[in-house]
Amino acid sequence: MSFDSFRDDLPDGADLDADATLPGISEGEIVVIRSTRRKKNISAYRAGGRIVVSIPARMSKADERAMVPEMVAKIRAQEAAITMSESALAQRIDELLLELAPEITIRPSDVAWRAMRERWGSCTSVDRTIRISDRLKGAPSHALDYVLFHEAIHLHISDHGEGFKAILARFPTADVASAYLDGYEAAETALALPEALKKLLNK
Ligand SMILES: [Zn+2]
Repeated sequence: MSFDSFRDDLPDGADLDADATLPGISEGEIVVIRSTRRKKNISAYRAGGRIVVSIPARMSKADERAMVPEMVAKIRAQEAAITMSESALAQRIDELLLELAPEITIRPSDVAWRAMRERWGSCTSVDRTIRISDRLKGAPSHALDYVLFHEAIHLHISDHGEGFKAILARFPTADVASAYLDGYEAAETALALPEALKKLLNK
């Protein structure tokens, strides 16, 4: 997986709109696990970029269709409560640039969360828009800051050359932030095989 790209080759969120299985829920984002050990209750949690809903193995398809969206909505509501607003993201970019790269005076025209699973962020220099993957909602602040700073530098330098690297190197906890992002992707890759996961959880 690449860190980002500064040219959008896909419309934002395009991968999420296709093949919706339930209203408002797209295939791939939600993993439903039928657990033989689970008798009655249903639980949901965020794992990687996905929401995992664990239901009893005997639950009917009709109940599943009714309950799963409810659990997903609950998780999203919890996340919204701890998520930075988009104006707060723009504010943070301003602070990071003032502190670490005062020579960059250009500011984004718009900063927004986007459902992006292949990238952590993107910066379109033509219209100065920055998009941040919603996988970073609830991430440690150093990891989010690292991605915000990376994309903000692209407002000024579009490639990942020496000039770019020299500025990015000013970020004080890059190693820790990178470790978080790498670990997140590793967990996500593990979850990309729901069949294998189901076997594991039902054994
Ligand atoms: Zn980049």
